[in-house]
Amino acid sequence: MAKIKAEYIWIDGNKPTAKLRSKTKIIDGPVTELSQLPDWGFDGSSTLQAEGHDSDRAMLPVAFVPDPIRGGDHILVMTEVRYPDGNVHETNKRAHLAAVAKDFAASEAWFGIEQEYTFFRGRSPLGWPEGGYPAPQGPFYCGVGADEVFGRDIVEKHMDACLQAGLGISGINAEVMPGQWEFQVGPLGPLEVADQLWIARWLLYRIAEDFGVNATIHPKPVKGDWNGAGAHTNFSTKGMREDGGFAIIEEACKKLGKKHEEHIAVYGADNAQRLTGLHETCSIHNFRYGVSDRGASIRIPLPTVKKGKGYLEDRRPAANMDPYEVCAILLETVCS
Ligand code: ADP
Ligand code: MN
Ligand code: MN
Ligand code: MN
Repeated sequence: MAKIKAEYIWIDGNKPTAKLRSKTKIIDGPVTELSQLPDWGFDGSSTLQAEGHDSDRAMLPVAFVPDPIRGGDHILVMTEVRYPDGNVHETNKRAHLAAVAKDFAASEAWFGIEQEYTFFRGRSPLGWPEGGYPAPQGPFYCGVGADEVFGRDIVEKHMDACLQAGLGISGINAEVMPGQWEFQVGPLGPLEVADQLWIARWLLYRIAEDFGVNATIHPKPVKGDWNGAGAHTNFSTKGMREDGGFAIIEEACKKLGKKHEEHIAVYGADNAQRLTGLHETCSIHNFRYGVSDRGASIRIPLPTVKKGKGYLEDRRPAANMDPYEVCAILLETVCS
């Protein structure tokens, strides 16, 4: 037995977009099973999750991974926020996803989430001239060279950290707006992808912190003729991945079209600033699906059309969406 540092991570009550919080607990290690992790608590009156007179909120560990920053046997612990009596707190969106994932387990749904984000140093995106603008968009997407991309040292460190933590990160790329990047997590099951996306976000903020840089997931970090930031959510069920899957994908698109407003309601705050119909988006007021169409709400990727099976890409979720909510509503709409 040796003492280890366990970083307990939770999601706060900030509105309209919740933020990550964490603090360190010294426990006996190494930890090999979730049941070894004690429940813990925090001051909910400082996180918009309680009033001062009744401020204790509980953290229930739900997943843990090796801590790539501290190394050794240290760990990161994802938790759910509960009341002291164990009841689910209103800000805890994971508990609902856990129930939905169980209900629809037979669908064997997979999710791959593309997390776009923007680095800022002070008030300007990383690499932008102080108080000014860089050259117009065009050369930056997947660019190379000190005049094209900014922050690659942070991006590489983050990717390595995700791999060391055992997260299902599947790639990274520089985005259309300079200073903007993307990483992808998945394909994974609903709870796995959502827990891992939150942990990957925490690692991104934590690593960028050491560079004096902050990463934002605001969907429109710079107003005007600059791309916004999304969290395209790629989705498939077992039926979609098997022969004859294309018909099931089209049926899913039709179901999604009938629930457009309900989905938009949980696809992230300020998404109207991003879903304008410009910059590779479909207007927030319209729903459209199409093959290989980056101006549609739902894109059916070309390989899926060619094979007649595969997955669909919901392009509507904003970068600041909560994956617990997005995965839950996709399962509810498509699988029921
Ligand atoms: P884009 O061409 O839109 O930029 P990306 O390559 O960035 O696509 O992301 C696609 C995501 O879809 C990846 O995370 C990938 O793992 C995921 N994905 C691949 N196949 C499936 C599938 N069958 N179901 C769900 N997600 C999938
Ligand atoms: Mn992508
Ligand atoms: Mn992208
Ligand atoms: Mn995409």
